[in-house]
Amino acid sequence: MNRSHPLEKLRNFGIIAHIDAGKTTVSERLLFYTGVSHKIGEVHEGDTVMDWMVQERERGITITAAATTMYWRDHQMNLIDTPGHIDFTAEVQRSLRVLDGAVVVFDGVAGVEPQSETVWRQADKYGTPRVCFINKLDRMGASFEKSYQSILDKLTKNAVAINIPIGEEEHLSAIIDLLEMKALYFEGEKGEKMVEKDLSACVAQAEIPAEYMEKAKQWREKMVDRIAAEDEKLLEKHLGGKEITKEELMATLRKAVLAFKLVPVFCGSALKNKGVQIILDAVVDYLPSPTDIAMTKGTDPKTGAEIERKISDADPFAALVFKVATDPFVGTLTFFRVYSGVLNKGSYVLNSVTGEQERIARILRMHANSRQELDVLYAGEIGATVGLKNTLTGHTLCDKEKPIVLEKISFPEPVISMRVEPKTKADQEKLIMSIRKLIQEDPTFRIKEDIETGETIISGMGELHLDIIQDRLRREFNVDANFGRPQVAYKETVTGEAEAEEKYIRQSGGRGQYGHVLIRIKPKERGAGFEFIDEIKGGAIPKEFIKPTEKGVVEAMDKGIVAGYPMVDIEVTLFDGSFHEVDSSEFAFKIAGSMAFQAAAKRAKPVILEPIMKTEVITPDAFFGIVISDLSSRRGKIEETKDRVGMKVLDASVPLSEMFGYATALRSLTEGRASFTMEFNRYEPVPSNITQEIIEGKRK
Ligand code: GDP
Repeated sequence: MNRSHPLEKLRNFGIIAHIDAGKTTVSERLLFYTGVSHKIGEVHEGDTVMDWMVQERERGITITAAATTMYWRDHQMNLIDTPGHIDFTAEVQRSLRVLDGAVVVFDGVAGVEPQSETVWRQADKYGTPRVCFINKLDRMGASFEKSYQSILDKLTKNAVAINIPIGEEEHLSAIIDLLEMKALYFEGEKGEKMVEKDLSACVAQAEIPAEYMEKAKQWREKMVDRIAAEDEKLLEKHLGGKEITKEELMATLRKAVLAFKLVPVFCGSALKNKGVQIILDAVVDYLPSPTDIAMTKGTDPKTGAEIERKISDADPFAALVFKVATDPFVGTLTFFRVYSGVLNKGSYVLNSVTGEQERIARILRMHANSRQELDVLYAGEIGATVGLKNTLTGHTLCDKEKPIVLEKISFPEPVISMRVEPKTKADQEKLIMSIRKLIQEDPTFRIKEDIETGETIISGMGELHLDIIQDRLRREFNVDANFGRPQVAYKETVTGEAEAEEKYIRQSGGRGQYGHVLIRIKPKERGAGFEFIDEIKGGAIPKEFIKPTEKGVVEAMDKGIVAGYPMVDIEVTLFDGSFHEVDSSEFAFKIAGSMAFQAAAKRAKPVILEPIMKTEVITPDAFFGIVISDLSSRRGKIEETKDRVGMKVLDASVPLSEMFGYATALRSLTEGRASFTMEFNRYEPVPSNITQEIIEGKRK
């Protein structure tokens, strides 16, 4: 069996955007034109093919990062769906990890919005080459020039316009291609299907209308200057007054995009089927194929040594899992990208993170509304398999003879939690099972049981994140439950050292209980976790009672000491104790371990830790003072302020507990003219007056 498309003819790309910029509409149009979907569904009709989960349809936002394959100009294009909402930055990150290039979509009225900046910076971090599409030019108030200028001002000086619109708002009628110097008219009210071919099926090329000629010439001149500057020979030709061909411009532009030197800007209206078709060509012409990436890095799971793999069928098989989804029809769907080698249906592969083997019973390629069964998946391709039990997002699947752990995707800690109370006993079981499924899909979602109350607590990345989980539990899994109010996921730790000695002795007739331990506890660095050190010498405590002692410590840590929040970042050393030949038991040592930990922790200056959010507020100058004083009243620390034409950009660190309802507050403070984004940054001790409030709140 051979590859259907050589590596150079593969494109793994994503569409990233601020929420509402039109990412779903654009994706949907691309799938339609390439022939995959059968009819155009519009978002407001709740009928798009990418958003296959009910609440995504209702909310009109995309949460899952499913991958969809389409074909264009004899290329295989895998569109990796990325979420637009900030609560799902982990999802954006995981998709950026597996895609090679991105189309960034902007709202032609608003231009660059705060979230476009966040995702832009993430794409910078992952080294993702991009093209831009200024969408919604048909809307009232739309301006190509203003939006383009906002990209130059806020995101990159490397933007270069390749298209400009003919008309704007309700007059948007066509797009001028500055490379070809032609006007492109798009046929049909709904756009025509082009099915795996090229633009010729739906675009009528015409001469640029006379009244636009001068403007087009000016823009073209800017474009040629900019592109030619990226290539010495071209520059010479250009300066010598010679005409540069379209092919020369395109080849240089492609190189410059891959080297992060230029970002081409296209435009149109996805809703009105104008210009959006050109994105397909842009992906083929300017975004990288897997061969442009050439190598991927990983480590040997045994030695930790770095290994490099060529993106090639000839290297040993290695794939990265970037999404686990529960599908109502097929069960657990595991999406992965093959970096090297080939994967055959029916083969066994190693999950190098768990050390377990998994059988690949089926290989699926997902299209917008159908699945295709494959026998082989090749290097660079994206596919899915079903029925894997212990493989999670971020794991590596590989050749068991040549194990490798590909660069992991790192996920932030959940910062918001909520109680869930099932309505009946039967719901309890269903709830736990459903939550386990959701956790498999989403590594930023967690579950835990409150030991004292027996209640189930779920936690996630933000209010909306938990909202959506609630919704899915109700709808998809039919779980009937009451959900509490979202709460900050506090933690506890100690800031000092202490020792404690505890004996657990019971004498009641027959066999008694005897456990006796001495422990020392110390704070560890933030994020370092828990460590248990066994320093027992000369058998003061027999081996079989060490683990139970540790278990007792862990249980006590989970219960917390100040206000009942789990304790983190502590080193516990068991250094002495004694036992009784007859009465000692695992149980007795577990209790002694718990008691000793509690006694030591009380003396080791325990504190509550709270999540601190890195927050960026963009506000008109006029509201600067008011925004700052409001942030200070929320215990915010301003870290940096930057000027940006008429606007101030504020970077601040603010405790999450002070940020509930901030969106509404900011809107009313600034007449709706400021905007903000926030993401989790670190845990920090809360000030003592607040500690008291938390303890009291918890008691209530
Ligand atoms: P997403 O949140 O980025 O996925 O954005 P959607 O594709 O869901 O679009 C948000 C809203 O903008 C929907 O109501 C769309 O119908 C609308 N929309 C998308 N593209 C355009 C466009 O080109 N012009 C206009 N006028 N509306 C658009």
